[in-house]
Amino acid sequence: MKQATLLFICLFAISAALHAVTFKEDTKICGVCGQPVHVTIAQNLLTGGGSMDLDLRPAPEKRDTLKYQIQLCRKCGYCWPDIAKERKHEKIAKVLNAPLAFDDTAALFARAAEIEIADNAPSFASYMLYMKAAWVMDDLKNKKKSDEYRKLAIKQMELYMERDAIARTTGDNYLALIDVLRRIGDFEKAKRILSIAELYATESVLPQILAFQKKLIENKDSERYTTADALKSAK
Ligand SMILES: [Zn+2]
Repeated sequence: MKQATLLFICLFAISAALHAVTFKEDTKICGVCGQPVHVTIAQNLLTGGGSMDLDLRPAPEKRDTLKYQIQLCRKCGYCWPDIAKERKHEKIAKVLNAPLAFDDTAALFARAAEIEIADNAPSFASYMLYMKAAWVMDDLKNKKKSDEYRKLAIKQMELYMERDAIARTTGDNYLALIDVLRRIGDFEKAKRILSIAELYATESVLPQILAFQKKLIENKDSERYTTADALKSAK
C-alpha cells in the first residue's frame, strides 16, 4: 500500500462495515536462518472496528491483535511482521546478537525497527514499528516506556523526511508527527511542525484534523483523541 494513502483509507474505514478479526495458523521459513517458524496470522485488519487515534493507533478490537503483527524466529532472534522476508545475516548481526525478551511484544517491534534501520534506512516502516511498540505500552499503561518508544518513532520520521523528498511533502507524515509530539508533551515542536503542515495537509479531512490539533496544542493537551473526535469538533 502506498504510504500516503494510508491515513485516508484508515479514516474512511471508520464508517466501513464491521468485519470480525479472524486467525490463521501457518508455518513459515525464517528469512535469515532458514528455520521453520510457527506463526498465528490475524486477518481482516483493514476494515471496521471503530475510530482510530490521531497517531494512527487502531481501535481496541484491532489493537488486541498487535502481538500477532510481529513474528519472531527464536533460533536466530530475527523479528519482522512477515518472518519470511529475507535479510542478509551479516547486515543485521549486531541487532540479532543483542539480548531480547521473547515475551515482550513491544521489544519485538523495537527490534524489527532496529533491523530495518541496520538493513535499509530510517523509513515509514521503522517509524510505524516503534509506534506499535508505544501502543503496546499504552495498553499496559506504561507511560514512561510508551514515551520512550514515541521519541524513537519521532526520530525515525524526522530522518525519513530529511532523506526523502516525497515524505517531506506528504501531509499524513506531518499529521502523524504532530500528534506524537503532542502526546509526549513537546508542544513547541508540535506547533512548529503544524505551521509547515498547513502547506501540505490540504486534502480531504486533513485541514479539519490540523485545526483540532492546533486547539489541543494551544491548550497543552497531551491526551489521546480519535479521528472521530477531531471530525466531530470541526462540525
Ligand atoms: Zn531465524
